[in-house]
Amino acid sequence: MTYEKPADLPDKIQLFIDGEFVDAEGGAQFDVIEPVSNEVYTRAASASKADVDRAVAAAKRAFDEGPWPKMLPRERSRILHKVADIVESRDDRLALIESWDSGLPITQAKGQARRAAENFRFFADLIVAEHDNVTKVPGRQINYVNRKPKGVAGLITPWNVPFMQESWKLAPALATGNTVVLKPASYTPLSAALWPEIFREAGVPDGVFNLILGSGGVAGDALVKHPDVPLISFTGDSSTGAMISTNASPFLKGLSLELGGKSPSVVFADADLEEALDATVFSVFSLNGERCTAGSRVLVERSIYDDFVARYAERAKNIVIGLPNDPKTEVGALVHPSHFEKVMSYVEIGKSEGRLVAGGGRPEGFPEGNYVAPTVFADVKPEARIFQEEIFGPVVAITPFDTDEEALKLANDTKYGLAAYVWTSNLKRAHNFAHGIESGMVWLNSNNVRDLRTPFGGVKASGLGREGGYRSVDFYTTAQSIQITLNEAHSPRFGAGS
Ligand code: NDP
Repeated sequence: MTYEKPADLPDKIQLFIDGEFVDAEGGAQFDVIEPVSNEVYTRAASASKADVDRAVAAAKRAFDEGPWPKMLPRERSRILHKVADIVESRDDRLALIESWDSGLPITQAKGQARRAAENFRFFADLIVAEHDNVTKVPGRQINYVNRKPKGVAGLITPWNVPFMQESWKLAPALATGNTVVLKPASYTPLSAALWPEIFREAGVPDGVFNLILGSGGVAGDALVKHPDVPLISFTGDSSTGAMISTNASPFLKGLSLELGGKSPSVVFADADLEEALDATVFSVFSLNGERCTAGSRVLVERSIYDDFVARYAERAKNIVIGLPNDPKTEVGALVHPSHFEKVMSYVEIGKSEGRLVAGGGRPEGFPEGNYVAPTVFADVKPEARIFQEEIFGPVVAITPFDTDEEALKLANDTKYGLAAYVWTSNLKRAHNFAHGIESGMVWLNSNNVRDLRTPFGGVKASGLGREGGYRSVDFYTTAQSIQITLNEAHSPRFGAGS
């Protein structure tokens, strides 16, 4: 199969401010490459602080003067369902360009397009169903919640499954009546450039959605420090999250930080080992291993360890590596040469920290591009860097354990705490073990299957705050508490004499 450029790619990607496509100040641009050849295929506008100021001003005007925040939830919901319809109707095209831009296998990119549409449908429905409790003190007082959108939401997203990540923030921010400025990752701006037309066609008023592109240190930073942006929802690296937290603190902004992970998959001897094998292989090698919730540390009970490692290595060696647009491809090319270098450096580090049982470098037949063979290290000690640090590629560390206590200690022995997966047929153990794990989310005998009503987020270095379901509504709105006296006001009569 030859690797053909998708038809009709833009020769430049522009900013979108106040309903118009515009260049950045002074025409500044940056190169955009595709990860199979690492050749530049287009250029994108590189926003300055002044561009960010313009985008925020447009979003603020749309919030203060436009119809969006005042619309009935049903009206906004109808528009957001249209967004979902349009995304669904374009999922082939979307998957194709996402796969081209990011190196994701096309079949997996397609799943992400469907998830993006589902994010809009879910929040379009939720906002209509949403309600708050009213409380009453009989005969005296009624208290209710007046939920209000916060204003201009600053949304900053990473390059892994970019369109889906963007939708995860755009859908709740818009559904709750905010206006937004989105700053996607610089490695993958192509699919973000689809949003303006999608929103326009669906009937989102001008100024409600604004897109800025360009360096995180300039455009992202200006958004974080903008006084008219009261909240920032960020997904990305833990160190960037920490920096954003510092930069936003003088403004006392609302912050939601979805950060890195080094999640454990814990396999007990009494598990359904066939299912555990399928899931633990998929967990770290799907999406090219560029997955925040990847089960990148597999902890295996000693009595099944040797057999499990052998079967795991066999599966990893058989994974189909290929061109991102080939439906047979299971692992494609990593997003960018800098990321490829980082992952490769961990592969080299791993060779002195564990026993290499699969992969270990470039796959055969792929001398160019950002290809890394699915790599498995066994017998990895907890102090190893490949056990502790997020690699964010197709590399896994496997470690044996003897007891439940040791497994739990190993599971919790990193600075991260995003997800965890536990495989056992013992119900009591499953629950007790899950309760002991320091992570925001645990899947028992399950792959990473999301229910959008449940809280999503991490603990420790994996994040701050929760999104998902009503937690997103909470984050993107102010719950103003209103109290009404039903009878006479019971005020002590200061200054009224005796
Ligand atoms: P980065 O933290 O490097 O970048 C994320 C976004 O932040 C990009 O848009 C980036 O812009 C921007 N940015 C960078 N510096 C700043 C700054 N100083 N101020 C404001 N914005 C800034 O992460 P990656 O893009 O490399 O994404 C991978 C990381 O994301 C991994 O750690 C992964 O685990 C995590 N992640 C977490 C998820 C979760 O839900 N917990 C989900 C998915 C990924 P630019 O691209 O221009 O640098």
